[in-house]
This record gives sequence, C-alpha cells and structure tokens, in this order.
Amino acid sequence: MDRPVIDHRGPEFAKLGKEVLEGMRAIFRTSGPVIIYPSSGTGACEASLVNTLSPGDRVLVFETGHFSGIWRQAAERVGLNVEYVPGNWRRGASPADLEARLGSDPQRTFKAVVVVHNETSTGATSRIAELRHIMNRLRHPALLIVDAISSLACIDYRHDEWEVDVTVCGSQKGLMVPPGLGFNAVSEKALSANKTAKLPRSYWDWQEILKHNQAGFFPYTPATNHLYGLREALLMLHEEGLPNVFRRHDRHGEATRAAVRAWGLAIVCEEPLEYSSSMTAVFTPEGHNADRLREIVLENFDMSLGAGLGKLAGKAFRIGHLGSFNDLMLAGTLSGVEMGLRFAGVPHRDGGVMAALDHLVPASTKSEPAPVGR
Ligand SMILES: *Cc1c(COP(=O)(O)O)cnc(C)c1O
Repeated sequence: MDRPVIDHRGPEFAKLGKEVLEGMRAIFRTSGPVIIYPSSGTGACEASLVNTLSPGDRVLVFETGHFSGIWRQAAERVGLNVEYVPGNWRRGASPADLEARLGSDPQRTFKAVVVVHNETSTGATSRIAELRHIMNRLRHPALLIVDAISSLACIDYRHDEWEVDVTVCGSQKGLMVPPGLGFNAVSEKALSANKTAKLPRSYWDWQEILKHNQAGFFPYTPATNHLYGLREALLMLHEEGLPNVFRRHDRHGEATRAAVRAWGLAIVCEEPLEYSSSMTAVFTPEGHNADRLREIVLENFDMSLGAGLGKLAGKAFRIGHLGSFNDLMLAGTLSGVEMGLRFAGVPHRDGGVMAALDHLVPASTKSEPAPVGR
C-alpha cells in the first residue's frame, strides 16, 4: 500500500479499478456488481438502506447483538420504520421468528429484512440460506440485506445462491486491509428497487458509481492506496483458495472452542450450528470482570483481546481468529489468554492450550518420539 498515489483518472488506475471490482465479485460469490466506497463498514450499511428504500418503509431488523443495534439506529435515523425483533445475544437470527413476522404480513408491508451474518459482539452466526428459504416459501417480496462485515472471506458466504439483495462488507476484517473501504454487493432486485427508492442520497448513490465503474473509475477520489491493499488481499485469498481459507477459519474456531471448554469457561454462542469461525466470545465467571482480564493480558503480554460490547461489557471477552492468521498465531493467542487467566486469578482449569493443540495437530498424526540415545 506504501506506493505513490497514481492519477485516478488515468489508464493505470482503470486497470487497478477493474481488477479489484472484478476480484470482489468472486469473494461475494456474485455475478452482479460490487460497489466500493471510501468508507467504514457503517457507511456501507447506510448506503444499502438509502439506495433501496423510501421514507417510512417498514424494515425488520433482527436483534443479534451490538452490531444489529447499529443497524437499527442507522435505519431509524434515515427515516425508516423499524421493527426490531428481540433476540437473546447468544443466537443468530431466529428462522421461526422470521416466519412468524412475515407470515403475518399479508399486505407485504415489510420492505426489507436486515440480518447480521456474523454478529461480531457475540460470535454467533445467522443461517442466511435458511432465512432466505423461508422468505421464498412465503413468497414475501421484502429485500434481504445482510451484514457480512466480519464473515466475508472467513466463513462460507454465497450472495447469489442465497439470493441476498445487498451484502454489506468492510475492508478491515476478513479482507485483511486497514479500515477505510466499504462494500455493497447488489442483486438485480436491489438494482430495480434503487430506481424507485426515495430516501435522499448523493455520495452513496449506486447509479453514479456504477456508471463510472464500467471503465474502472469512480465518480469521486477513490482510496487508491487501500485499493492497492485490496488487490494484494485478493491475490492472497486466491493463492490459498477460498475453500481452504474457510477451512482454516473453521479449524481455528474449533480449536479455540476446545480451549475454552477445557478451561471450563462458557462460550457466549449457545447454538453449535451458529458458532462463528472468525471470533469466539467467552464469558468470565460471575464476579470476575472481563475487562480486568483484558487489561492484565495487554499489560503483561502486549495482546489486545476484544472487549465485551453493549450488554456484554465486563462480562465477556472476545478472541479474534480471522484474516491473516495461522496455527502458531492462534497457539500464541490462546497461551496469552491462559496465562492471563492465571495472572488475573480467574477460576479455570489448566489445559486449554493443550486441548487446542490437540485439535490443530491430532494425536494420530504425531509421530512417536525417537528413542533416547539414537
Ligand atoms: C465491524 C463491524 C461493523 C462496523 O464496521 P465499521 O467499519 O466499524 O464501521 C458492522 N457490523 C459488523 C458485523 C462488524 O463486525
């Protein structure tokens, strides 16, 4: 990324622009357009709403944790009529609740359903294919808008196959680029909704951007250096192969959970079908502040654990295992947590790290130690 900024109206830029716009389609698994904004993920969330909806439209937002709350706030602030479906923060969006809400909407008043795929505050994922299946079975025409900010390029995701209308992402999680890029992957249905959507928008408007993107350009100054980074990230993902990237994240999620169970601590996500492969949130025992543990780990081992967010503040900490991450980094991370638990006097059992190593390198593949003296 540390390269000279090129003329963003010149031929060299057009090549870069086309390369990253095309490359991102493979990551979203879509044959449709992908919009790239110079923005954080939250900007791309707002963009998905203002491009497809009109003032006062009814929108169903599923409560899954802190980040679904951000969606609720954004949707309310831009003038949508939000119905926030309560959730317990230990599960993904409930298919039964979706069925109940849309099933009792014969007038088709809901214009969009918003779901966070990987709720980064809890480590619970929502089953998008299943939710889409329900919408199709009910023949409900609402748009499906999905936040894949902390799951894209970590956890299997299929924009076209799951018939998602807008998938939202940001650059700084699984895409391994510093913060500063926001993404919208857009379905045909979302594009046609865009033609009649009346929420005010200017900077976020897809049409202007799509027009320029055809030739590899942007209507305003793009984040050129971030796009260099994105091009490199796409090469890295391509080199490893997406299925291998997903498998690596799955293994790291499983190994982390093996450690947490061995410590005798509770994983925040309570539904095994919904375990996140990009991060794991862990409860500290009653009476032991998770932020104190995080502080001790930071001071002693120079490692930042994720804070408990919203109503999990002080009660849980989060272990990230996403992006440019390997077995040894995970082993180091879990060692830091285990040493921190000792230092902080948090009641736990020893052996979490060993349980994780056994998962990463199963005993059956270990060779016998060479006899002494040979
Ligand atoms: C990080 C994150 C966001 C917010 O993205 P910003 O880049 O901080 O604006 C929203 N949703 C989810 C699921 C996230 O993980």
